[in-house]
Amino acid sequence: MAIYKIVAVPEKVLRQKAKPVTKINAGVLRLLDNMKDTMYAYDGLGLAAPQIGVSKRVVVIDDGEKYYELINPVILESEGEQTASEGCLSVPGVVGVVTRAQKVRVKAMNRDGEEVDILAADLLARAMQHEIDHLEGIVFTDRASSIESENN
Ligand code: ZN
Repeated sequence: MAIYKIVAVPEKVLRQKAKPVTKINAGVLRLLDNMKDTMYAYDGLGLAAPQIGVSKRVVVIDDGEKYYELINPVILESEGEQTASEGCLSVPGVVGVVTRAQKVRVKAMNRDGEEVDILAADLLARAMQHEIDHLEGIVFTDRASSIESENN
């Protein structure tokens, strides 16, 4: 078990387009395991590899109901709209109001190299969009209609 250090803005890796995983090898499995431990250690809802300084298209999410591991995730469809307050481990001390799709359909690969197709709504859909944004070098403050300090 290993807990990674979370990188925060303005680290360059958070602004890069992450590279696809071409082969699921021991390194990728270790990355997934350690990202999972790191997400839980920091009490996060999700974590994308760029947030620990690794520019790969790997995401872990736990919406409180289920744990997800997504390799090379792609949003195939999105529907509706939801607006809520959001934060990010890589943007400490800041919250912002972000409008996102209410439902998304995401295609990804799991750790066994199998294709998974996930229909997500509400909080899970928000988490998926937030984490997949990280793979494109986008942080939530780019999309926020208003931003404020967490302590206000
Ligand atoms: Zn984030």
